[in-house]
Amino acid sequence: MSKKNKFKGVNTICTHVGQVKDEQFGGSVSPIYPGTSYEYIDIELDRYPRYSSTPNQEFLSKKIAALEGTEDAMIFGSGMAAISTSLLAFLSSGDHIVLQNDIYGGTRNLVEAQFKRYGIEYSFTEGIDIKSFEEKIQKNTKAIYIETPSNPLLKIVDIKQIAKLSKANGLISFIDNTFATPLIQKPHELGIDIVLQSATKYFGGHSDICAGAIAASSEHREIIWNLSKNIGGSLSDYTAWLLERSMKTLSVRFFRQQKNAVELANYLSKCDMIDKIYYPGLPSHKGHDIAKDQMDGFGAVISFELNKKIDPETFLKSLEMINPSMSFAGVESTMLSPAETSHYLLTPEDRLAQGITDNLIRFSVGIEDVPDVVYDFEQALNKCK
Ligand SMILES: *Cc1c(COP(=O)(O)O)cnc(C)c1O
Repeated sequence: MSKKNKFKGVNTICTHVGQVKDEQFGGSVSPIYPGTSYEYIDIELDRYPRYSSTPNQEFLSKKIAALEGTEDAMIFGSGMAAISTSLLAFLSSGDHIVLQNDIYGGTRNLVEAQFKRYGIEYSFTEGIDIKSFEEKIQKNTKAIYIETPSNPLLKIVDIKQIAKLSKANGLISFIDNTFATPLIQKPHELGIDIVLQSATKYFGGHSDICAGAIAASSEHREIIWNLSKNIGGSLSDYTAWLLERSMKTLSVRFFRQQKNAVELANYLSKCDMIDKIYYPGLPSHKGHDIAKDQMDGFGAVISFELNKKIDPETFLKSLEMINPSMSFAGVESTMLSPAETSHYLLTPEDRLAQGITDNLIRFSVGIEDVPDVVYDFEQALNKCK
């Protein structure tokens, strides 16, 4: 085994892999190389920010590839830049893609608002079982797209089955791995081709970075890279540097958030002001067994339905510490109402068909002390009575 492969633990990878060595001064952090102009004579690699080939971009990709267990990776200016570039790199006019019905709203919007203009056909599945995907495959199907755990109901799709179905039909498979992170779910090792991340979420983790990433084989990465040079959604070196710094503590943050989430899921499932709870770690969750099989943990997002007697808006406004804010995965706990935010544009009927009630709250668990979170939760509930 080469020395490079000796250290494989995710905590070690987060801390050490993909650092730009400071040859000049021996500093212990990566120097920032914001340059847009590099020597070219006798140099093989064409370094340029839009080519995602500057030192900071290149080395950060190595950290992500090591975490996902892929040959290669690449970073982007946002999760959507990573997703749109990857999809368009593999789909041409006349092709068809099968997508899970409850994927991230931005991805769904990309497909519904733009694909027709490029002559790309698509079908959304009815459910999330393997049959639902199988029945949508047609002659010109080229790709399959999943997101598990999904937002906001944390539905679990069987990754190995999707990979198998995809291989049997010669499709390219995509997964949005944002909710799980490679710390607890490595889809490429389960047979999925392209792994997508919104690094705006756990990778950044402090609600102050917008970035995205893909992880794949070198061959697939090159196909995406070739289009990315035309599209130009690259990540600034300053942000790449900040993201590397953030990712050094990714595992510490995430595992702490997950530990808190397990405790809070147990607490919430006993709380009589809550009618329903969605957390893949609970044996009552529909996808619990598959999650146990394909994940090394259950993540740090919990969704729950408040009792009908409680007005969700009053509840959210009554919180003193937990922020009722958009997005998720920061070190601070946040809550939001999907009906009022991510799923606002759907009709109430469509929302209900997806299982999203007006009383549903999505809870992104932070790193605070659990008793303080419980205290805040209870005092807010009391103000609603
Ligand atoms: C936020 C998010 C995205 C989009 O990422 P951006 O960085 O906002 O472009 C994609 N997928 C999931 C699951 C997300 O939560």
